[in-house]
Amino acid sequence: MRKEALFRAVGNIRERCAADRFPIDSRELVMRACRNPEIEIIHFSDARIGGLLCREKNVTRVALNALHSGARRNFFCAHELIHYCLHGDRAKMWVCGDPSGGGVIAGADAYAEWQANAGAAELLMPYARVIPEFADALSVRRPFFREQHLRDMYESMARKYFVSGTVMEYRVNELIYETIQYVSGTPIEQVTLMSRREQSKRGVGRYSPLSVYDRIHNADTSAMNL
Ligand SMILES: [Zn+2]
Repeated sequence: MRKEALFRAVGNIRERCAADRFPIDSRELVMRACRNPEIEIIHFSDARIGGLLCREKNVTRVALNALHSGARRNFFCAHELIHYCLHGDRAKMWVCGDPSGGGVIAGADAYAEWQANAGAAELLMPYARVIPEFADALSVRRPFFREQHLRDMYESMARKYFVSGTVMEYRVNELIYETIQYVSGTPIEQVTLMSRREQSKRGVGRYSPLSVYDRIHNADTSAMNL
């Protein structure tokens, strides 16, 4: 499934759950979308475990890690919801790793985990909202543009979507190719969505948040002391 098809499928899940207000509380979506849901917060001994989904005959169990903040748990709960909605035919049980704490757990289906992560990100932080907001935040011209400005932007946007700053940073970076198109004049509904893998296959150049700033302001931050 390509990025565009995945995002479309996620849009359908959001619509089905009538989730049109942000921030989205993914526990509410699990309660609406899953069969006989039970959500537990468990003291896992390992912070690298993000969450767990278990589809039993009469109950759908989602377990989240008590070692994580509420904002991080919101992301993992959305991740389990994507497994539930898209991967029902693959496995009944998913034990999911925290990408920022060591990545995919050994033996896991790496492609399904990528889909669940990318899908959870699109569910909670739709690209059609995040890209214009990030471009808007970058539109303030500064004498010196520093990494700290970016970190402040990630934290502020993270609070708006009830995710961690790290997850927001990852999200913004995943959407840089699309953001470059947007700030170059392509309307948001017409940007071409492309995964990193597809981008490197097609030889698309690598962009960074700073290249978006440069594109907006016709500047060159590469020479600045960051
Ligand atoms: Zn997973």
